[in-house]
Amino acid sequence: MASDGALVLFSGGQDSTVCLAWALDRYPRVETVGFAYGQRHAVELTQRGVVIERIRDTFPRWADRLGPDHEIALAELGRLSETALTRETEIAMSAAGLPSTFVPGRNLLFLVYAAALAYRRGLVTLVAGMCETDYSGYPDCRNDTIRAQEEAIALGFDRAFRIETPLMYVDKAGTWALADALGGAPLVDLIREDTHTCYLGDRTKHHAWGWGCGTCPACELRAKGWEAWHAAPA
Ligand code: ZN
Repeated sequence: MASDGALVLFSGGQDSTVCLAWALDRYPRVETVGFAYGQRHAVELTQRGVVIERIRDTFPRWADRLGPDHEIALAELGRLSETALTRETEIAMSAAGLPSTFVPGRNLLFLVYAAALAYRRGLVTLVAGMCETDYSGYPDCRNDTIRAQEEAIALGFDRAFRIETPLMYVDKAGTWALADALGGAPLVDLIREDTHTCYLGDRTKHHAWGWGCGTCPACELRAKGWEAWHAAPA
């Protein structure tokens, strides 16, 4: 087990909840940070607290390691982004070949703010859920981007920061499997019921894989992963 602590970028979604479990399994001290950036699915900010409390209650072995949760307001990002995550516009492919849910600069900003917080908290590892396996083509989810930013942050802060991305090469079926490996059925159930992924912020429709509209790209990915995980030989 690592001897230092980690700060997890925690949105309240499936991926970042698995990242949080992954970190709690490895680090003696784990803190969490979330960002309010004017996202349409701001319900995820409410679910963050719900998920953290349920992890505390369900997993006593992790509760002792789980430190404070932090929330950072980045409203300017929402104001300057013309995207389907921050405006009431349709989710579609843009002329640049990227989905209109891509918020330019979002993950880069998140990591810099997280590093500034980690610096103050004496934490040298950031854990984040970026993934280039089924990542909708977001360029700031690529491993090359993360490695370059890790270097920039380490240089710019003059501290040996590490950015761990345990889901980088894991698909959505693999993410469910990792949740099962880390916390068994209780963690899978917690992720199903309490994490939020739907881009439209819909928590009125219930499915085998959890709550969501069922048709936005985030719901589709989550549902497909759930089905693939169940179809996979045990
Ligand atoms: Zn949805």
